[in-house]
Amino acid sequence: MIPYSQESLVKNIAREVGFDAVGIAGIEPSLESDRMFDRWIDDGRHGEMRYLSGGADKRHDPGLLLEGAKSIICTALNYYDAAPSDREGEQEGVFAMYARGRDYHAVFSEMLSDMSERLSAAFPRMKSVACVDTQPISERDIAIRSGVAWLGKNTCVISREFGSWIVLGELITSLDLSPDAPAAQSLCGSCTRCIDACPTGALEEPYSLDARRCISYLTIEKRGEIPSEQRAGIGGHVFGCDICQNVCPYNRVAKPSTAFSGESNSLVTMSLNELVGISDSDYRELTRESAINRCKAEGLRRNARIARENLRRE
Ligand code: SF4
Ligand code: SF4
Repeated sequence: MIPYSQESLVKNIAREVGFDAVGIAGIEPSLESDRMFDRWIDDGRHGEMRYLSGGADKRHDPGLLLEGAKSIICTALNYYDAAPSDREGEQEGVFAMYARGRDYHAVFSEMLSDMSERLSAAFPRMKSVACVDTQPISERDIAIRSGVAWLGKNTCVISREFGSWIVLGELITSLDLSPDAPAAQSLCGSCTRCIDACPTGALEEPYSLDARRCISYLTIEKRGEIPSEQRAGIGGHVFGCDICQNVCPYNRVAKPSTAFSGESNSLVTMSLNELVGISDSDYRELTRESAINRCKAEGLRRNARIARENLRRE
């Protein structure tokens, strides 16, 4: 019998749990991409997402999140929905693909907890802490370092197997695992399709996003009124934007998700008129297990009003 290495055992467990991709990164402080993130914050390009500027010490040094931490197990789930993702021009409005099904945070929490239990059975002295947007860590940096994905000019991480239609979750662990080789620096070459396609100029230069101009930020994170000069660029989007992913040639490899199959939220099929008039209680009920709860009811109504105005003008 061929003995399993610790690393193979960990990866087999991750796959048994249902993760689509897994890689291992060392716990050491981060790469250049993290320093780019610092500059991005210093320039104020994160807009009102003040939570992103907190916890810089842990972001630089994820070992601070767990005493005795040695490695990070980076996992990814493919969320690609084979249904048409860009319905711009239709009255229903556009929801980003990641938000259409069950909230990936809940899915990840369950799966990482399952993985942690299975690993504890194999390594009884292991300690771990799970991260799904719950800790101030640099997920993109860890995905690159663990070989799970590389960074595209659209600032998304891109997997060779699934394209950029992935969400990430991590388990920081006391297991001393050999790290995987990092992913390639970038495979974009001379392509600029995402930059050219962005309707708001939010991708001001390769690998650099000004969130304050990005439709995803404006429709999900921005509170209050959206400045009138920014409304037209939002087009028919109601929650998020996938344009810079839809045009990416590396997304031709996309394959339907198993983790999120057949789970579309009914908000996604509502007309813009219905969304404009949605009550707080209906919104609460329909977003109970959905990432769409991020924009709040008032935000969704605001977005639907803007999308309706934009589509009427066309
Ligand atoms: S998500 Fe949309 S608005 Fe934001 S950078 Fe990509 S294409 Fe531009
Ligand atoms: S569209 Fe082109 S430049 Fe943009 S991320 Fe994809 S390959 Fe890179």
